[in-house]
Amino acid sequence: MSDFSLALNEDQLTLQKWLHEFAVDVMRPNAEEWDEREEFPWPIVEQAAEIGLYSWEFMAEMMMNDPTGISIVMAIEEIFWGDAGIGMAIMGSGLAAAGIAASGTPEQVMEWVPQCYSDGSKINTGAFAASEPDAGSDVNGYRLSAKYDEAKDEWVLNGTKAWITNGGMADIHVVVAVVDPELGSKGHASFIVPPGTAGLTQGQKYKKHGIKASHTAEVVLDDVRVPGHCLLGGKEKLDERLAKVRRGEKGNAQAAMQTFEATRPAVGAQALGIARAATEYATEYAKERHAFGKPIIMNQGIAFMLADMATEVEATRALIWKAAWLGKQRAFKNAEGSMAKLKAGRVATWTTERAIQVLGGYGYTREYPVERWHRDAKIHDIFEGTEQIQQLVVSRAISGMRIE
Ligand SMILES: Cc1cc2nc3c(=O)[nH]c(=O)nc-3n(C[C@H](O)[C@H](O)[C@H](O)COP(=O)(O)OP(=O)(O)OC[C@H]3O[C@@H](n4cnc5c(N)ncnc54)[C@H](O)[C@@H]3O)c2cc1C
Repeated sequence: MSDFSLALNEDQLTLQKWLHEFAVDVMRPNAEEWDEREEFPWPIVEQAAEIGLYSWEFMAEMMMNDPTGISIVMAIEEIFWGDAGIGMAIMGSGLAAAGIAASGTPEQVMEWVPQCYSDGSKINTGAFAASEPDAGSDVNGYRLSAKYDEAKDEWVLNGTKAWITNGGMADIHVVVAVVDPELGSKGHASFIVPPGTAGLTQGQKYKKHGIKASHTAEVVLDDVRVPGHCLLGGKEKLDERLAKVRRGEKGNAQAAMQTFEATRPAVGAQALGIARAATEYATEYAKERHAFGKPIIMNQGIAFMLADMATEVEATRALIWKAAWLGKQRAFKNAEGSMAKLKAGRVATWTTERAIQVLGGYGYTREYPVERWHRDAKIHDIFEGTEQIQQLVVSRAISGMRIE
């Protein structure tokens, strides 16, 4: 087990500098344009691929060769400091990669994760499709079904997924489906839908409040047939697991909790990047802007607001890094991953709103980036488990009781 330390090693400092340069030189200058266009920023993702940032090798390096767990959250903070919409376009395929890594066999991971980034000739994307129009937080309510056609060794998927990052346009879709409706969320399994599979189409593309450069859409599956080997984890393991649940045996809830918790600090780091951007920007603005004959920062009313913002950013980073380290050691005790995500979403929403306040009328216009950051921040209270779902997880962890 590595010791917890807030000190970055040489490799991490080099990585941070490299990402900061990409954020300054490429992301910041393009952020406004892609927010306005509300389209997936292919040229920027191509640039990220050229330098090796948009690649499965980068993700593997972050996930497997860092005993501290901190590299990935530090990297994400830097990317989202650059821009959250473009950041999500770069990181979105990672959701599919993480879904494959969580449930797939080593062979499936090696086959499908690289294809979420490239097929050798062009840039690919991946999508992780769990949420449905009638069920987001309530995973027991998923309806998209997977039925096994034994004669052909194929699974047939039917239903609709909602709010899916890269949904419909992705080359690789990882789809969570109901294989046994009697068992609620314990009757789910995940499937790969390979590129070009008939029956999978994009439904509506959502017009969003923020992170507009990230593509979010419905995915409709109409008699989609995938080969048996596209069931993540394999049929034997699924049958064993379902039999256990039907016999009333408890699964390894602790292991499942550690896996879910481990992904949450990374989502918190996205929010942290936005919060830091807004705090830095507002501080510099307040030093330049004059009112009543002096810089507005000379008023405690402004300076104390900035002091609170900077304090919240630092506290949030400490919580995220600690949670990321705990996740790497698989040593969560009180749902610290959820705590980090909960705190970071709120801090990002709050600091960006305060940044608008510091900039006054200019902050409310699209000529300055703080209103965009405020729009981009809000999603972090919603996706990957809403504010209330994180509170539910934390309250259950600290009480040991099944809070409803
Ligand atoms: C931009 C964007 C990208 C997304 N990307 C993906 C993706 O790639 N893949 C994917 O699968 N999903 C994705 N989602 C879906 C996202 O995870 C869900 O929107 C989220 O989980 C909330 O589900 P919901 O929208 O159905 O809200 P609901 O679950 O209907 O919740 C509505 C409100 O009720 C509250 N609530 C619900 N249950 C409880 C409870 N038990 N106690 C207290 N309050 C409760 C919620 O906190 C929320 O405030 C994305 C969503 C957005 C907006």
